[in-house]
Amino acid sequence: MFWLNEHWRPLHEFQHASPHGLRGVREAQHKLERFAGLLMKVFPELHESQGRIESALHPADVLRDRMLRRGRPAGRWLIKGDHALPVAGSIKARGGIYEVLVHAEELALRSGCIGPDDDRALLAAAPARELFARHEVSVGSTGNLGLSIGVTAAALGFKASVHMSAEAKEWKKARLRARGVRVIEHVGDYCSAVAAGREQAKEDPNTYFVDDESSERLFFGYSVAALRLQEQLASRAIAVDARHPLFVYLPCGVGGAPGGIAFALRHVFGDHVHCFFAEPVTAPCMLLRLASRDDRPVSVADVGLDGQTEADGLAVTRASEFVAPIIKPVVSGLYTVPDSDLLATLYLMKETLGLEIEPSAAAGLLGPRWLLDSAPGKEYLRQQGLTEHMDGATHVLWTTGGSLVPRDEYEKFLERGRREWELRQETFYDSGS
Ligand SMILES: *Cc1c(COP(=O)(O)O)cnc(C)c1O
Repeated sequence: MFWLNEHWRPLHEFQHASPHGLRGVREAQHKLERFAGLLMKVFPELHESQGRIESALHPADVLRDRMLRRGRPAGRWLIKGDHALPVAGSIKARGGIYEVLVHAEELALRSGCIGPDDDRALLAAAPARELFARHEVSVGSTGNLGLSIGVTAAALGFKASVHMSAEAKEWKKARLRARGVRVIEHVGDYCSAVAAGREQAKEDPNTYFVDDESSERLFFGYSVAALRLQEQLASRAIAVDARHPLFVYLPCGVGGAPGGIAFALRHVFGDHVHCFFAEPVTAPCMLLRLASRDDRPVSVADVGLDGQTEADGLAVTRASEFVAPIIKPVVSGLYTVPDSDLLATLYLMKETLGLEIEPSAAAGLLGPRWLLDSAPGKEYLRQQGLTEHMDGATHVLWTTGGSLVPRDEYEKFLERGRREWELRQETFYDSGS
């Protein structure tokens, strides 16, 4: 389904009420710049980018021409390729690495290992490492956040433990164990893995728990991507204004990553950016949270859904109660995607652009079809006064993970996706609306 968010507001109406606003975003950006030298030391793969964790913006008009009927105003398509983010291979690299570094910095400052004006590269030196070895970092995850947090914490010398939910893939657990991270397996879903981790951490004052359901640090770490996208669009001379609207499609799990990015994008581009979140049909936790009349936590199980999906990064049954209220006025709408469409577009992505993504990361690709072809989509464009300007529009499809998926697993997704695509390509143009 496609749901227009009735709580959407113009920026000037909610700007003053936002916690920290753009200030929190800029502070995170500034801190990440300070950490660049440290990141180059700890992760040799970041040498080339001078310690910056960033992804490319790929032209994707060939993908557009396969997914939409030609000869209609559809604007320019771009892929924001976070599937290839270094270190963690997913969008979680931004928030996860940021939160671990900020925690490490805080510990080191408090113990006197480093002074406030010291080079943050000292966090990789012996005194800091000895300090971190006496501390633990822990997290609950469906997989990708665990990879990001676990790998970063272990690289700095922390003890690290990751509470994994039932849908977490074996290869993600193996990869973590190979780096000395303790993996604790839970039979329940993502929310119960997070709850178990949170409880265990409470018992040990030397354990820091990264709480995906309420972390402000994750949120602002993710949000920095908006400033980077702004630079990338500017460097291509792509305008964003009333005649050149920007549409951004983001896969959504608990809401932190898409929420942080959409929040910052609205502060940067105001009402000229339109953010849509994509969720699996079996786990539309944010859609449910924003659409339900009473403003309370709600699980997809309450409406008879089980959260089972190939999109493990999005297999979340309850939205973040920290993020939901913040993004209520921010996001334009949400839509759901069945696994069969995720696999078909995963295949199409490889065939048209040669990009290898995981199923979660394909969720954004279905967005423009909903916007352009469905009755509520057309209604949104009319309400916003954009119907005449769609030729000048830019659509950014955010691919959020995939580069670490093992070859044999990826080949299986690709083969299933090829079959899905062949089954539907005849009817693809006419379905979905
Ligand atoms: C975690 C994740 C998301 C969504 O991020 P949330 O903060 O959970 O909303 C999207 N795509 C992938 C691949 C992810 O791992």
